[in-house]
Amino acid sequence: MKIEVVQEDITKIKVDVIVNAANSSLLGGSGVDGAIHKAGGKEILEACQHIRNRQGKCKTGEAVITTAGNLPAIKVIHTVGPVYNKGNKREEKLLENCYKNSLFLAKENNLKTIAFPNISTGIYRFPKELAAEIAIKAVQEHPILEKVTFVCFDEENYKIYLNKVILLVK
Ligand code: ADP
Repeated sequence: MKIEVVQEDITKIKVDVIVNAANSSLLGGSGVDGAIHKAGGKEILEACQHIRNRQGKCKTGEAVITTAGNLPAIKVIHTVGPVYNKGNKREEKLLENCYKNSLFLAKENNLKTIAFPNISTGIYRFPKELAAEIAIKAVQEHPILEKVTFVCFDEENYKIYLNKVILLVK
């Protein structure tokens, strides 16, 4: 499985499925969530509302899949990252679950290439270095797709990922 790192806006990435760092309401929010709904159009929100009506909120660490609306991707996986609170509330395990469950859901849907944002490292305040370690390890332990793209938005995350992924290739 190929792993790549780019610095980009995830709404512009052309892969089979992009992952959204959603909140448990599934009804949109700020940050990457807002950007995905804005660029993808109302079809994504309608699909999220449908899921909400069927199953209620999405639990932290779990993932659901919808259309990608107007985005270049085919599908969007919405996963709910943990809010970081001193690291004593199973946040690390829950963040790992976000990556694992998204990979499994992509596989189940016959999708081969996936792009992840840096889940929980924005408003949810997860330490970036630790979040990157968890993300890369989770992906390496489950090489079930053809390609994983880590899409970093800010320079700090981009540098962290570049270092870790390059180290890994050597
Ligand atoms: P969370 O609530 O999970 O912390 P945020 O959206 O606040 O979610 O931040 C998660 C990460 O997504 C942050 O690293 C932020 O820089 C990044 N991000 C924000 N907008 C975009 C975008 N358009 N494309 C890719 N990543 C983005």
